[in-house]
Amino acid sequence: MSADTIYLKNGRKITASHVTQENGQVSYETSAGRLSFPVSIVDRVVHDDSSPISTAGTVADRAANLPIAPPDALSSPTKSAAVRDGSIDKNLLSELESEASANPSPTAVARVVAAERAAAQFEISVGDFERAVDHYNVGLRYDPNNAGLLMEAAYLHLRRSEYTTALDLLQHARSIEPDSADVAKLSGWAYYGLNRAADAVTQWKRAMELKPDEEIKHALEKAERDAREEAEYHEGETAHFRLKYNGGAAPELAAAVLKTLEAEFEEISTTLNYVPPEPIGVILYTNQTFMDITRAPSWSGALNDGRIRVPVEGLSSMTGELARVLKHELTHSFVSQKTAGHCPVWLQEGLAQYMEGKRSRANAGALASAYERHMEVSLLSYETSWLTLPKEAASVAYAWSLAVVESIVTVNGIDDLGRILERLAAGSTAEDASRAVLREDYPGLMLSTAQFLHKAYL
Ligand SMILES: [Zn+2]
Repeated sequence: MSADTIYLKNGRKITASHVTQENGQVSYETSAGRLSFPVSIVDRVVHDDSSPISTAGTVADRAANLPIAPPDALSSPTKSAAVRDGSIDKNLLSELESEASANPSPTAVARVVAAERAAAQFEISVGDFERAVDHYNVGLRYDPNNAGLLMEAAYLHLRRSEYTTALDLLQHARSIEPDSADVAKLSGWAYYGLNRAADAVTQWKRAMELKPDEEIKHALEKAERDAREEAEYHEGETAHFRLKYNGGAAPELAAAVLKTLEAEFEEISTTLNYVPPEPIGVILYTNQTFMDITRAPSWSGALNDGRIRVPVEGLSSMTGELARVLKHELTHSFVSQKTAGHCPVWLQEGLAQYMEGKRSRANAGALASAYERHMEVSLLSYETSWLTLPKEAASVAYAWSLAVVESIVTVNGIDDLGRILERLAAGSTAEDASRAVLREDYPGLMLSTAQFLHKAYL
């Protein structure tokens, strides 16, 4: 896979993958699905075949960001004079708004809705989701029962892990179009994000009846596995967490887990300057159920696929080790949500280890000497899923990831890491984000890390 850069004539730059050109449209993949705009606003597209994209299959993003395609309208954009030459005509937008306010005739309303919709789609295509939400909201003010607008807005909220807001919009859309497969599909996603697996199953079954597709089939299978398992589970709830655990886990342990997680939540929230919009799902397993249901490789202790899944076999109270595991997995939830699922695995794992309190002292010698012998591995190869790595290679990957993050935090400060996460959320590749914030490409980052290890530990 390759990362491409699309340069627009107005100077904006979009990092994308799978860029294609057809029928006067340039289309490409983003976190919001496949998008396109007219060739006329594009200056040039630069293909970079050497670098894999950073967004595919990170461990943490799979449940929170199920690979579900956007509603049809988003892949075949709305045309309106309000968007042209790579920018939004704000004057025209406000003109249309005042016309529709003064005389809300069906024609005036249809025009303002088309314009706001096109503006929203344009903002999505350049990675500005905040502004896109604003445009959908204006459109919905003029035409509150527009099912297409409701669904597109809901899709955007789902991408941002704002499941409750998405669900409100979708319930409204359902009252207008009760037999829409898209409404059922997106509702299933919202329920799944809210840790309501049984409700997700109901919606995805309905979507399969209305209009079957592969995405829903896979999502449904996953939700059914969860729902079966969780039907027998007890529940606990705090401000930021929904906990489920089966009969094999002690209720006192469940209470202690919630208390620990709440304390860790505050700390991570302060450090990363972010508050996840929805409660985070946590599931405690006895070991065998854990392996059965998560299908994780045997070396992985716990797992975060949008929910925090922790094996607790044989434990009856909180231990230092369990508290560390929880903090590690909780960090993944923060990072995954803050970046809308767009964090490379090395940065996810580096940050999670750093937050749980791990440092590079024990590994510093081996890493520094590997670097001197040019035996280090490129961060590029650490961007995508590690779940298929053999155990040895995985330990090396964890060690480098921690060292790089520790070096950045020590040399540049934790705020710079926050800035990198913000750039990832806007669709930047990790190496571009590093260039922009730290003035370092990947080789530069590895060199700084080796220097940091020497200075700090050797
Ligand atoms: Zn991890």
